Amino acid sequence: MVAVAIDGPAGAGKSTIARTAAAELGFIYIDTGALYRTIGLSCINKGIDCSDTEKVIPVLSQIKIDLKFIDGEQRMFLDDEDVSGLIRTEEVSMSASKVSAIPEVRAYLLELQRGFAKTNNVIMDGRDIGTVVLPGADVKIFLTASSESRAMRRFLQLKEKGIDGDYDSILQDIIKRDHNDMTRETAPLKAADDAVTIDTTELDLLQSIESVISVIKERLK
Ligand code: C5P
Repeated sequence: MVAVAIDGPAGAGKSTIARTAAAELGFIYIDTGALYRTIGLSCINKGIDCSDTEKVIPVLSQIKIDLKFIDGEQRMFLDDEDVSGLIRTEEVSMSASKVSAIPEVRAYLLELQRGFAKTNNVIMDGRDIGTVVLPGADVKIFLTASSESRAMRRFLQLKEKGIDGDYDSILQDIIKRDHNDMTRETAPLKAADDAVTIDTTELDLLQSIESVISVIKERLK
């Protein structure tokens, strides 16, 4: 089986780029952030503070999380309900960032993530795929961009959907999530030693996709 790991901070374009690259290569694309988001959502639903480790840990044995592929697209199920849309809010983003710092949460999701790579050719995106989840991945890419350009992209994406976001608060959220992800003790966000870093600050989406695909093809030769 072939595994491609794409890690990087929030809003660097990982999911769009990884999805396109996976389609081109005929691999399955796995968005691991969606798993943390689903746990974040379950805590919100239960009225639990996501930073309260003692309260979050018991939730793990009370919920059922499934990642399924429907028409080739990843869908997330929480207790048999499709929550793929519900996990995309800013509130859930911040909750995911908080629960992801809890080692028990990371351990709970580890085998689930590894299981997919055992039986499929995968492109998996996240924060710790190249360092922890799939340290033996055939290709590792660290995708990054300045926080301002990541915030601007998110702002424009929202605008396209007819949502009037506030650029400054989007930027502050991104900075806060980066800080949480980079400074946590378990599996912090960082490039694996053998990762190729691609900075997309000056690249448009098409150029970013091309450069990721060319690194993957070059490495898999
Ligand atoms: O990638 P996405 O923004 O959907 O991830 C949501 C949150 O989940 C991130 O801010 C990060 O804290 C956490 N995450 C993680 N490890 C991963 C994927 C996501 O800690 N492999």
